[in-house]
Amino acid sequence: MKAPKDQHFLIDTDAVDFIADSIPIQGRTVLEVGPGGGVLTAALLERGANVRAVELDGTLLPNLEQRFEEELSTGQLTITRGDASRVPLPAYDLVIANLPYSISSKITFRLLETGFETAVLMYQWEFAKRMVSPPGDGEYGRLSVMVQTYADVELILKLPPQAFNPPPEVDSAVVKIIPHEPPVKILNRDVHAVLVRELFSHRRKTIQNGLKGMKSIYGEEVMTKLIGSLPNDLLGKRPEMLSIVDFIELANRLTNLL
Ligand code: SAM
Repeated sequence: MKAPKDQHFLIDTDAVDFIADSIPIQGRTVLEVGPGGGVLTAALLERGANVRAVELDGTLLPNLEQRFEEELSTGQLTITRGDASRVPLPAYDLVIANLPYSISSKITFRLLETGFETAVLMYQWEFAKRMVSPPGDGEYGRLSVMVQTYADVELILKLPPQAFNPPPEVDSAVVKIIPHEPPVKILNRDVHAVLVRELFSHRRKTIQNGLKGMKSIYGEEVMTKLIGSLPNDLLGKRPEMLSIVDFIELANRLTNLL
């Protein structure tokens, strides 16, 4: 297994405390992706959380095992070596992590599928902004829709590169994520995901032209019927103007034609 490159260790102790205090964790089981040197791990353990850490880089393990010998012996801490976007994850209630940026998207969607009560996660600033952007905003896109369909997201802290060692090239942000059921029942989640992906793959195109472009996926007849059933004002919009509910309703109409 190769050691990952995206290791920006948090050195701003106020930020560590802010993250560890952002949700009640005493007596709860917290998944930490990428404990690194253990700065956040220590803060979580001090506050009485049971920590289930998953770390890809095996060279960091001896240090972690030494630092947390006692907590490992009592079981308050467990460390799994592996890629958190692939390995079977231990049971947990909450997720708190300074994520490796290379797996931001993969791990977020994996966690949303697996389920949790609340997550407090660090992302690159641009990624975090896209997660929380509302319709009509220039950064509202596929990521915003796919995350906000399944969760409430709130940007709770912005951090400059100097908060980390080595400093990354960009600012970072901490986002609080609380999963919820989609606001309208989604008849087929795959169809919904494909529709959102396809419409945002040409964000300058109108909905009508975006849907026409999906003939190669769902066939000419289905897409022509769908377009014929939609009001003109919706067909003339660009995807960034559609709300979370609009995307679900459009996907459900499409599903009903399949
Ligand atoms: N939590 C530490 C901190 O805040 O200082 C380290 C954060 S660093 C941004 C990301 C950590 O995730 C590193 O320790 C890295 O080795 C680990 N990592 C990278 N890819 C990973 C993966 N796919 N699964 C689990 N851990 C990973």
